[in-house]
Amino acid sequence: MFRPEIERMRGYQPGEQPRGTKVVKLNTNENPYPASPKVAEAVAAAVPSLRRYPDPHATAFRMRAADVLSQQSDAITPDWILCGNGSDDILTIVTRTFVGEGQVVRYATPSYVLYQTLAEIQGAAQEIVPYESDWSLGFEFTAPDERLRLAYLANPNSPSGVCLAPGEVAAIADMLPCPLLVDEAYADFADTNCLDLVRSNERVMVSRTLSKSYALAGLRFGYLVAQPQVIEQLGKVKDSYNCDALSIAAATAAIDDQAWLEENVNRVRAGRERLMGGLEGLGFAVTPSQANFVWVTHPRVGHDQLYLSLKERGVLVRYLSYPNWGDGLRITVGDDAQIDTLLAMLGEMV
Ligand code: PMP
Repeated sequence: MFRPEIERMRGYQPGEQPRGTKVVKLNTNENPYPASPKVAEAVAAAVPSLRRYPDPHATAFRMRAADVLSQQSDAITPDWILCGNGSDDILTIVTRTFVGEGQVVRYATPSYVLYQTLAEIQGAAQEIVPYESDWSLGFEFTAPDERLRLAYLANPNSPSGVCLAPGEVAAIADMLPCPLLVDEAYADFADTNCLDLVRSNERVMVSRTLSKSYALAGLRFGYLVAQPQVIEQLGKVKDSYNCDALSIAAATAAIDDQAWLEENVNRVRAGRERLMGGLEGLGFAVTPSQANFVWVTHPRVGHDQLYLSLKERGVLVRYLSYPNWGDGLRITVGDDAQIDTLLAMLGEMV
């Protein structure tokens, strides 16, 4: 009854999402602080319009986002932007647009596990290129392959938090024989981003999310920036109403409040420095992070054991293990109290 590729696949396994507020939740890179207060006002104002279908093009958000992005790079107009139900939806739309059965996608490992699932759903083959030990990418990532249809690059990457410089990404995009999706879920926490590359290279697409830096993971809103002729084709593939009216209103208010974003990003970055310093002090090897999480390994204590001991005591971090590569802990930057709790507990375990 089912397509064989669906029966064979495991499906994407999201991080644990326990309900209730008791847990110190540092496992899925959520923002520890509440979203801009303007979001709640915008949602309340949008409720009376729920009787009607939402705007299929999320025009209000695209107009506001175009203004905001134009201040950070050259002028961008709304026809450079496509909205999605979280950036996972954007990744799905991009994959369905470019990749068919028997074709090939490429991504690096360790990275975001959803790329694998999306390729499997399409019945596509995968070229999985290991990061070098310094988290750079070798020539294998740009090697020619005529069946190659799409490459994904998370930048900053998860779980490492490492961010390749825009010049490096531009060189990768120029060498790749296929479109490149630069997944910038964490770019607001980084020093650089790849938005400018979209203008010079038709095959570069940049995806963003409101889940992390805007503290709206529960909302489900993401967007893609690409050249208008690319956005036009992708628009044929997306669900008509992939963003609901409340999400569009909330996301528009959120991106409008850049003062809130700046303050929030600064707080998270300060927390990141404190967390990294504290973990180094406990003997962890900490990968320098440009995101709102850090990737750590410990030379002596087992990472799965640390994860379980923390969980027993009400602190959730992410234990990740990659075949032929190794394992470690990915820890989200929490607020000051959460960081203190985590460091105190780890201090008793290592
Ligand atoms: N890309 C990366 C690298 C991520 O870590 C995540 C979060 N799981 C996403 C995309 C998707 O985020 P969302 O669907 O919440 O926008």
